[in-house]
Amino acid sequence: MRKMDIANLAPANHRVLRDINEAMVLNVIREKQPISRIEITEVIGLEGSTVSKIVTRLLADSLVYEEGVGEVSPQGGRKKRYLHINPNKARAIGVDFRPSGYTVALSNFRGQIQRSVDLPASRDPQEAIAAIAAQVKKILDSCAGESVEGIGVSLVGLVDPKEGRVLAGEGLGWGEDVPVGSMLRQELDMDIPMYFENGAWLGALAETWFGKHARPPRNLVFLDIGEGIGSGIIIRGQFYHGSMNGAGEFGHIPLHPEGPLCSCGARGCLEAYAADPATVQRYKELCRSRSGAGSARLAGVTIDDVIARALEGQAEGVEALQEKAAYLGRGIMPVIYSLNPEIIVLGGPVTRAWDLIHPIMLRELSQRAPRFYLDNLTLITTTLENRPSLVGAIALVLARSFAVPSIASLG
Ligand SMILES: [Zn+2]
Repeated sequence: MRKMDIANLAPANHRVLRDINEAMVLNVIREKQPISRIEITEVIGLEGSTVSKIVTRLLADSLVYEEGVGEVSPQGGRKKRYLHINPNKARAIGVDFRPSGYTVALSNFRGQIQRSVDLPASRDPQEAIAAIAAQVKKILDSCAGESVEGIGVSLVGLVDPKEGRVLAGEGLGWGEDVPVGSMLRQELDMDIPMYFENGAWLGALAETWFGKHARPPRNLVFLDIGEGIGSGIIIRGQFYHGSMNGAGEFGHIPLHPEGPLCSCGARGCLEAYAADPATVQRYKELCRSRSGAGSARLAGVTIDDVIARALEGQAEGVEALQEKAAYLGRGIMPVIYSLNPEIIVLGGPVTRAWDLIHPIMLRELSQRAPRFYLDNLTLITTTLENRPSLVGAIALVLARSFAVPSIASLG
């Protein structure tokens, strides 16, 4: 990875300028492929001859390839040749730890997943990590002779990204302070770069990196609605982690001082009203009070069941999700006021009922936020085809090959 310290760019030498221009051209190709040299020149405003020289270097390094010819112009100008990122230049492995299970996946240089294996969750971290390491080894064996850039790992809870430690959070059921990074290194026993991050942050990275947006968002908040409410914040194209990696805990914004008890020990947090367990609980209450459904019948109900029943039109399911959406709408207000993002992206099971929850969130927002904020805000569900945390784990590896100053501080 090309490390560049943005604070020390002032006496930029030619090498640094060349690297920045090259990264800019490479990223324009990544975002807009297929694209011609002339179009690149128009997008980034560099001289045509400079772009041509950079493209020649990228072609020589096999980072990009050329294909396709456009129409010959009526004036008899040259045909356009289009540039693409070479998907086979390198590969990345993504590992996604979730409370319900784990996934190991292989992607190409464009972030397209080529193979993935799902593993069951385990209460024993050593057992879980050994199973994951075995799958990673299998994948690496099958990639013999190809360049695998590294392993990106998505974790749950408060994470130290440098060491890959899960500092707090009962999400994986392993207790506090689990050194996942060093355990995985020990199991793998090989020299391969590894990068770690919390899954909600990786959702944010995945949206900016692989999301389907008219232009890549620079100020984005990703809200992961699940067992808890996690978030990832990207400001000016960079993660904002806070001083101790503790930023973005919007799930613990207090909505009511005497509300239900939250996992953090306080009362009335957004999470205690709007995370999935609260929604399942509310659904059960509604079923009991309306139809007298017994506890035994409701015991195994999951958020997936509630969503499925709501989508079938069952009144209790619809109402439980509508209440969740109203709390989410209110809970998003502090996010908007404190960070003024251009886009808020929601991930998690409930986004399957987007048509049901989106209008209610908008209604709550419009009752509270001045038009100025809402007119400039996009509130959407994830645009990714695969799970955001897994896609983000892959992006965490690949982004390094495209490093420009704004993302050079990812690690
Ligand atoms: Zn809380």
